[in-house]
Amino acid sequence: MGVFVDFDGTLARIVDDPSDATPVAGAVEALAALAQHVGRVAVISGRPASYLASRLRDSGATVLIGLYGLERWDRTTNRVVTQLPLGASEAADRQERRDWGTAVEEAALRAQTAGIQGVVVERKGLTVTLHYRARPSEEAKVRSMALALAEQEGLAVHAGKMSVELTPPVGVDKGTAVAEMCEGLSAVLFAGDDTGDLPAFAELERRRSLGVATLSVAVSSEEAPADLLRAADVVLDDPAEVVEMLRMIARTFS
Ligand SMILES: [Mg+2]
Repeated sequence: MGVFVDFDGTLARIVDDPSDATPVAGAVEALAALAQHVGRVAVISGRPASYLASRLRDSGATVLIGLYGLERWDRTTNRVVTQLPLGASEAADRQERRDWGTAVEEAALRAQTAGIQGVVVERKGLTVTLHYRARPSEEAKVRSMALALAEQEGLAVHAGKMSVELTPPVGVDKGTAVAEMCEGLSAVLFAGDDTGDLPAFAELERRRSLGVATLSVAVSSEEAPADLLRAADVVLDDPAEVVEMLRMIARTFS
């Protein structure tokens, strides 16, 4: 069995300043317990892998996947491994990483220079997120700026809760990340709370048609996208309930 969960809004409550997000009580312990008893446990998030490691270091054998699958935390070396799906050669990979990194930084700089009041520019290396949670009235302005920046820099745009994200258009998302983690598993659970989790739900749907037992879990809130709640098999109320679910699964298999 594989148990895969998102971080923000799923293991951690959504907070005004994204750098303040921390896992809810018991989340780290529940992951560690689960990782002892089921085949594969992973946190799959839009955050950088290093950020996940800083919050979830003690989660046992849990795999930490960041930037929607572009990064993974290597627990043996304590380093981030970048996974761009190109790989003609190591040199080409390095070049590609540098090129996308430069395009994303350029977009981040321009977003910052635009100086929209209350908008937080969160730099994540190969991606950047523009948060307007502190100033929801600026949504339209931020979204149109994001579209313009994506056009200029050749990046892809993804909407999230009170935020918009710019990423390299390389066909990596939580769906491809889950697909990679699913290899060889006969049962898979994924839990998430936002639009970026929909590709993971779609991958579970695909696995289900191939005979794999799957469970899509959505975490509800006022901001939860309606299509995510619709696509879910189970809807939970908040991250505390997600942790309780993880505990129940660990108990069942221990
Ligand atoms: Mg989330």
